[in-house]
Amino acid sequence: MKRAPGEFDIIRDYFASAPQGEGVALGIGDDCALLQVPAQGQLAASVDTLVAGRHFPVVADPAAIAARALRVNLSDLAAMNARPLWFTLALTLPGSDADWLQRFADGLLKTARQFGISLVGGDTTAGPLSITIQVLGQTLKPLCRGGARPGDSVYISGPLGGAAAALPVILGERTAEGETRRRAERAYYYPEPQFATAAAIAGLASSAVDISDGLLADLAHICTASAVSADVYLERLAIAPLARALAGEGALALAAAGGDDYQLCFTVPQARVPALQKLEQEVVAIGTLSPGEAEVRCWQNGRRWRASRTGYRHF
Ligand SMILES: [Mg+2]
Repeated sequence: MKRAPGEFDIIRDYFASAPQGEGVALGIGDDCALLQVPAQGQLAASVDTLVAGRHFPVVADPAAIAARALRVNLSDLAAMNARPLWFTLALTLPGSDADWLQRFADGLLKTARQFGISLVGGDTTAGPLSITIQVLGQTLKPLCRGGARPGDSVYISGPLGGAAAALPVILGERTAEGETRRRAERAYYYPEPQFATAAAIAGLASSAVDISDGLLADLAHICTASAVSADVYLERLAIAPLARALAGEGALALAAAGGDDYQLCFTVPQARVPALQKLEQEVVAIGTLSPGEAEVRCWQNGRRWRASRTGYRHF
């Protein structure tokens, strides 16, 4: 197999200026990074791959792709109430386009600085464009999927449906101009990992998950892990204004079953609901849990509602 031109230099040339933050004894440039593991809590690790043509259009702005790749990984740390520490990058590139790489690196390192996470190593390979990021963080009070119990209330951390409504714009299937296009790009490429909400609910929530594949699909993960069923009352959902603007009547289905918003879905035992209501965070109660076989039932104004699709649309 032939290596892409300059492959050895790519990480050094474009990413070695990455900020080396807390706990980095030795960063990019040796066979391994050396990391000082925090004395307290647990290390949270997660990895995610984004493939061109499947998770983002091939022609997308490299800075936006980079931001999204890191943010979706950060969202997994947030979902577990883990503080970001370090990440590694495996980049598969069809060629070595200096301009593309520079813009990708700028977007990636800007996002890294914003969230206080250090790039500590990487690898590049020739092949179809794909981006794999592994994140590591520290958690003192982890939030897991498996702690929910019958009777707990189900919450979301914020409005849903914006990113799914933005997807046709991102894919060029639908035109949007000016401010609407800007909001669509923001919703899809710059999801906000919910670190503040996760920290606030850590002592209260019995389970949590980040909404990557759609509320109903991700709540089903909690139900499976916790062996409970859920009833969701759709009239209570917070729907993103962008979803209403772009999808009109279809906004509710996007909020229920569309993906990519990266809000949290979490559950809270009744005894802790009063404490939750005192938080600054504007969380939204959307349903309740009952004993059962991991079924997620949806209701709209007292009538059973079924999603035409229950999760993430792969394109
Ligand atoms: Mg996740």
